[in-house]
Amino acid sequence: MEPVLVAGAGPVGLVTALLLARWDVPSVVLEAREQRSQDGSRAICFQRDVLDIFDRAGCADDMLAEGVTWTTGRTFSAPCGSYSASAFPAGRSTTSS
Ligand SMILES: Cc1cc2nc3c(=O)[nH]c(=O)nc-3n(C[C@H](O)[C@H](O)[C@H](O)COP(=O)(O)OP(=O)(O)OC[C@H]3O[C@@H](n4cnc5c(N)ncnc54)[C@H](O)[C@@H]3O)c2cc1C
Repeated sequence: MEPVLVAGAGPVGLVTALLLARWDVPSVVLEAREQRSQDGSRAICFQRDVLDIFDRAGCADDMLAEGVTWTTGRTFSAPCGSYSASAFPAGRSTTSS
């Protein structure tokens, strides 16, 4: 089977390659940058539906083991006060049946 060419080793490209591998489809990931960004990670959090996709790719358990779970985010900004947003309540996966 000819490999699928995936352009870009960001989260979309890497997860695409992982999901293709789960279906025994070979792929080649091409990345324009010669090295990882030195700015650090852009990700503070992953929402549950994103974790479901990581779960299908077989890497959610390792990510959960390294992270913490929270359901409410608060942003503090003077002089306006604070803003609070709730994530999905704890419970079932959004995609599993
Ligand atoms: C400041 C900031 C904070 C963020 N915080 C969060 C967060 O907390 N949680 C969250 O879920 N998301 C966050 N995001 C969003 C998240 O980073 C993006 O949604 C995600 O990176 C998009 O993934 P992507 O693979 O589509 O693109 P990218 O991550 O941009 O990856 C694309 C890759 O393709 C490469 N590329 C481009 N063109 C070519 C080419 N022609 N050939 C080969 N390679 C190529 C690029 O070099 C790059 O590595 C944040 C974004 C920013 C900017």
